[in-house]
Amino acid sequence: MNFSESQEHLLIRETAHKFGQQEIVPGLRERDRDCIVTRDVLDKLGKSGLLGVSLPGKYSGSDTDYISLGIVCEELERADTSARVIMSVHSGLHCLTLLQWGSDEQKNRWLPLLAKGEKIGGFGLTEPNAGSDAVNIKTYAKKDGDSYILNGEKTWISLSDFADQFLVIAVTDPHATSRAHGMSAFIVERSMPGFKSQPIKGKLGVRAGNTGQLFFDNVRVPVENRIGEEGEGFKIAMSALDHGRYTVGSGAVGIITASLDACNAYVRSRSVGGEEIGKKQLVQQMIANMAAHRDIGRLLYYKVGWMKNNGLRHTRECSLAKWQNCNYAFQAANDAVEIHGAYGFCDEFPVERYFRNSRGAVIYEGTKEIHTLLQAEYELGYRKDKTIRKMLPKWPFNDDV
Ligand SMILES: Cc1cc2nc3c(=O)[nH]c(=O)nc-3n(C[C@H](O)[C@H](O)[C@H](O)COP(=O)(O)OP(=O)(O)OC[C@H]3O[C@@H](n4cnc5c(N)ncnc54)[C@H](O)[C@@H]3O)c2cc1C
Repeated sequence: MNFSESQEHLLIRETAHKFGQQEIVPGLRERDRDCIVTRDVLDKLGKSGLLGVSLPGKYSGSDTDYISLGIVCEELERADTSARVIMSVHSGLHCLTLLQWGSDEQKNRWLPLLAKGEKIGGFGLTEPNAGSDAVNIKTYAKKDGDSYILNGEKTWISLSDFADQFLVIAVTDPHATSRAHGMSAFIVERSMPGFKSQPIKGKLGVRAGNTGQLFFDNVRVPVENRIGEEGEGFKIAMSALDHGRYTVGSGAVGIITASLDACNAYVRSRSVGGEEIGKKQLVQQMIANMAAHRDIGRLLYYKVGWMKNNGLRHTRECSLAKWQNCNYAFQAANDAVEIHGAYGFCDEFPVERYFRNSRGAVIYEGTKEIHTLLQAEYELGYRKDKTIRKMLPKWPFNDDV
């Protein structure tokens, strides 16, 4: 075992931290308050090279390991959740899934553009009547010669109005023996006729980020855009969640660190009864919990990153890290509001934003109830991971990746 971050990890942490503080934090309070979402952060992330993290150099990526992606997510979320969400959908759900399941031709066609941020990827699984029960999606892809005709709707899709292409899961065989075997995965491009998106307004959090709906009205998708075989869509979606949940779980640690950053400064500047509130034992208890959860949270996601590096199945460990870290982050943000007293209740301090933003992550990529059930099922032996046809490539990457 080796618990130290390598020089490369330290460098990537510093790079992502600087990026967050210099490129995301300035003006964030206003952007978040007024729900201003622009392409600016996407463009800057692309130029910084961070969108290529954990992708092979062969595809214009940084060639860094998978732990590096977690570190980038942690540091970006320390600045703002909206920036980490970009990494989750673009790098986690979209790029790593393409790296795992795409053919050589598909990887060569899309990954270099995605790694450089010249194209942005999204992920479309959730529908108005199918969230936790993703097997009940209705979007239908009907085979027609060398294409599929897609009809249906997706909702709560991050980067719905900014991504250039989406990994979309659709039903291809409504009569399959099980619903999970009747689905396929496609890259749907924004430029395809019949595709439309629209933002969701009035969100509790991630207000400086874009979430919305996708509509497919007879969208013709060529067979070359199908990822994996027909019928593998559900497995591909579950692999995508292994990558997305990893980024959400690692990002959650950034909320805890940001809460600690804010509280460390505040408890020294605020005195009650002639004593700094940092000296009050009940305040210290909240600080101690945050520090413990930051460190436990890192161990949980580092382990998942290590398993990815070693080509091991990690669905169980990833679910655990996502579930626990998102709960820890919400608790840390809640305590940070408490420590700030009334000042935590307005946007003069960032903790109210952490509180709102951390709530969403408890829901997306599997609610806390779904992860509780998953963990119990693994523990009781009701659930076991089966071998899958394509695994995420190990790190260091081979030439044939
Ligand atoms: C900000 C944000 C961004 C998102 N981005 C994306 C994206 O990019 N792509 C995408 O595809 N989706 C995205 N989602 C959707 C997200 O993954 C779903 O919201 C999530 O899976 C939960 O589904 P639901 O909202 O339909 O809730 P439901 O599935 O309707 O659940 C409602 C409640 O019932 C509980 N429940 C459901 N089933 C069970 C059960 N079996 N046992 C016990 N309790 C249960 C849930 O835990 C929850 O409390 C996003 C959501 C948000 C909020």
